[in-house]
Order: sequence, then structure tokens, then C-alpha cells
Amino acid sequence: MRLDKFVCKSTAFTKTQAITSITQGDVTVNGEVITDIATQVHENNEVALSGERLYPRPFRYLLMHKPAQTICSNIDEVYPSLFNYIDIERPQELHIVGRLDADTTGLVLITDDGRWSFNIISPNKLCPKVYRVQLRQSIDESAMPLFAQGIKLQGETQLTAPATLIIVNDKQVLLTITEGKFHQVKRMFASIGNKVVGLHREAIGSVTLDVNEGQWRYLTVDEIQALG
Ligand code: URA
Repeated sequence: MRLDKFVCKSTAFTKTQAITSITQGDVTVNGEVITDIATQVHENNEVALSGERLYPRPFRYLLMHKPAQTICSNIDEVYPSLFNYIDIERPQELHIVGRLDADTTGLVLITDDGRWSFNIISPNKLCPKVYRVQLRQSIDESAMPLFAQGIKLQGETQLTAPATLIIVNDKQVLLTITEGKFHQVKRMFASIGNKVVGLHREAIGSVTLDVNEGQWRYLTVDEIQALG
């Protein structure tokens, strides 16, 4: 982790305060004054501020049930940010793992652990995300092989990765994908001439939604390890 981030994560300093303290020579790493804010430090390094050893706070991992008409952003825009529902210290340190559209509801993961979120988002890690999709036109089992083979999205050259479609009824399906391209689910159904009229994320990996709309909870250790 960068030295300025380490100082932020182990004090009540803002980023600007952390940078000032480093550049003015208040911070040592293994006993040596370091003034380069971009110096990489490991948790085993002895980082001290004015002679006092610093210990970074542990990472935080949350699950939330996103309501419609909210946005996966740290600040309010046209719609209010999800963070209005989360009464927690230092929300600005957290980021959302795989954004949902404003009109999409369901499971959202939130953390300050960038390496963990990379494992969930990266298409190479094949972490499954399950969406319940409400469609305008009827659909039947003949669509299943199209999703399994991969679909060509408008404006893309490569097919989507194999996805699993389960028909719930003629206008509702469960779709499991391992990628997270922009508006991916809506674009997949648009490519086969249908339209998504309701979208809800039910699961990410083995973690399923078990809180009411607008509610959140911390993930358990088992859930964090299973996803990371
Ligand atoms: N795919 C979409 O089209 N929208 C979402 O919010 C999530 C996946």
C-alpha cells in the first residue's frame, strides 16, 4: 500500500493531512524518515508518525440491498447515493464492488479492500453474479443455448462469456454471468430482441441477499474468504 494511504488508514487524517505529515518529515519507515508519499509499504514495515507506531485499521466488507432510484456512487447525483443508507464512519474510504444501474435493485458489496474487489469483478476470476430479470416479451428454453454460447453485444467485437439462463416463467428468468460489462444484462437481452423491464441481483458467488431493501450488514469471515 502507498505510504499516504497507510497513514490515512491508521490515523484520523484526511488524505491532505497525511500528505503534509509525510512531506514535512513526520513519518518514518523502519526508522528512516520517508518524504515520498508514493513509497510502497507492507504491513510488516514499522511505520511511525512522530515516533509513534501506526497500525492500519482492518478492511471492512459490507453487503447491502440496493433500492431502486439510488446510485452506486460515493456522492449524490441525479439520484441519491447508496451511502445515504449506510451510517458508518469514513464512508469515503469505501467503494462499491461492481455497480448496478439506478433502476436495478438487489445485492451490492461494499469494501475498502481493492484486492478483494478485484477478485470479484475481474472476468478472469469467473465469479458468478445471479440476476432475476423481468422481460417485456416472452422467452422460452430456445434462448438458453444463445446465452451459453455467448452473445454479441452492440458495439463489441467479442462474444460475452458463457452465461446460464433458467426460465422461471414466460417473462421472468434467472441469468448467471461472470462478467460485468456496462449495462451487460440489458444489452444481452436487447441483442436477442427482448427488453429488460426489471432487474434485481440476487447473489454474488455464494453470498445471497438476506436483508430488506435499504438495509445492510457486515459480511461474515466465511463469506469474505469465499469471495476473496
Ligand atoms: N446489467 C445491467 O444491465 N444493469 C445492471 O445494473 C447490472 C447488470
